[in-house]
Amino acid sequence: MTKKPSIATMCVQAGYNPKRGESRQIPIIQSTTFKYENSDQMARLFDLEDSGYFYTRLANPTNDMVAAKIAALEGGVAAMLTSSGQAANFYACFNICNAGDHIVSAASIYGGTFNLLGTSMAKMGIEVTFIDQDASEEEIAAAFKPNTKLLFGEMISNPGVAVLDVEKFARIAHSHGVPLIVDNTFATPVHCRPFEWGADIVTHSTTKYMDGHGVSVGGVIVDSGNFDWEANAEKYPGLCTPDESYHGLTYTKKFGKLAYITKATSQLMRDFGSIQSPQNAFYINLGLQSLHVRVKQHSESAKKVAEFLSSHPMVSWVNYSDLPGDKYHDLQQKYLPDGSCGVIAWGLKGGRDVAIRFMDNLQFVTIETHVADCYTCILHPASHTHRQMTDEQLIEAGAAPDLIRLSIGLEDPDDIIADIEQAIEKAVKE
Ligand SMILES: *Cc1c(COP(=O)(O)O)cnc(C)c1O
Repeated sequence: MTKKPSIATMCVQAGYNPKRGESRQIPIIQSTTFKYENSDQMARLFDLEDSGYFYTRLANPTNDMVAAKIAALEGGVAAMLTSSGQAANFYACFNICNAGDHIVSAASIYGGTFNLLGTSMAKMGIEVTFIDQDASEEEIAAAFKPNTKLLFGEMISNPGVAVLDVEKFARIAHSHGVPLIVDNTFATPVHCRPFEWGADIVTHSTTKYMDGHGVSVGGVIVDSGNFDWEANAEKYPGLCTPDESYHGLTYTKKFGKLAYITKATSQLMRDFGSIQSPQNAFYINLGLQSLHVRVKQHSESAKKVAEFLSSHPMVSWVNYSDLPGDKYHDLQQKYLPDGSCGVIAWGLKGGRDVAIRFMDNLQFVTIETHVADCYTCILHPASHTHRQMTDEQLIEAGAAPDLIRLSIGLEDPDDIIADIEQAIEKAVKE
C-alpha cells in the first residue's frame, strides 16, 4: 500500500500479515514455552541479545500480533498487552516510578485507577497529587515537585465523561521534563489518538470497546517513542542507567525508542506477571476488527439518547460532550470531531431513591458493573463501583452522588429510549 492505511483498514488488518498457506485469522499460540535447538540460543534470549519467545509470561506471539495492531491504531512504536486495564495503568506508571517518587493525576478518573494511585501505590511509597483537569496551567503546574515523574489523565473520563485538554496537559508535562500518560479507553483510537496531541504513552482497558462484547478482561500500554528519557536521565535511572538484573544493560542505549516497552516487558512482566492470555488476546482481536464500525454506532446512538434525556422534564442534568452547550463541547470539537463515545452521565430529579427505583424498573437495560460493550447497561456509582467514597470524594472524582452512568450498546436506540422512558414513569409514580 502506498498511502498510510486508514483506521478502518488497520482495525481489520494491522499486526498480522500471513504468508502462503498460513491461517487468515491470527493463530492462537496457546503454549507456555517455545523450543530452541541449543543452549546458546536460549542464553542469548535471556541476555536480550536476540529477540524471540521463550516463556509466555514475558511474551507470546498471539499477544504480540494484537499489541502490534493496537500500536498501529494509536500511531505508537510498540505496545504490550496486560491481563487487565488495572495492570496496564499500574505498569505504565511503575515502569518509571520508584519509592519516593510523585505523580500528578487528574482527579476525574476511573475509580479503580483512583484507588491504585491514591491507595495501593501510596503503600509502595509513591505519592500522588490529584488536580482538577479544568484548572489553569499555572494551578496544575503548582502541583509538580522535583520528584514528579509523570502526569496522568483520561481522554474521556469514567464515569464523569469529562474531555481532557490533551495539548494543555502535554505542555505542562513537558515543561517539567516528564511524560504525559493518557488512558484512552473511552475515546478509542477510532475517535482520538492522543499521541497526535502530544501524549507520550497511552493505556487502555481493552475490556471495554476494544473487546466490545463483554468477553475478556484485558489492558494495553502503547508507547509513542517520542519522550526523550535521556534528556531527563536523572529522573529515570531505571531506563537510563544499567539494569543489574539484565547484566548491566541500559534500556535507552540498547533499545532506543523501544526502551520503555522493553523494560515493561522484560522487567515488570517478568517480576509481576500480569500477562494477557493468548486466548483472550484472540477475542480482543475479534473485537478490534469491528471497532471502527461499533464505535461509530455506539456514539450515534448515545447522542440520540442524550438528546432525549436532555429534553425530559424529570432529568436534572446530562453530561455528553457531543451535545451543543455541554461544558466540554469545545474540547470535543477539537479532539473528538467524529464523535464521543457510548457513555452518558446524567442525573434524575428526586435523588438517590428515584434513581434506584428507575434502575429497578428497566426491562432490557441491565444493571452491570461494566461499560462500553454491545449491551446497554447502567450503574449508579455512588451505590455500586464508588461506594467506598465519601460524597466529597465522589464530587472530586467527577462522580456526583446522583450520577447515573449509562452505557449505550448496539441495540436500536429507539428501543433504549422507550425502556428508559417507561422506567422513569414508573419510578416517579411509585
Ligand atoms: C475499566 C477501566 C479501567 C480498568 O480496566 P480493567 O480492564 O477493568 O482492569 C481503567 N481505566 C478506565 C478508563 C476504565 O474504564
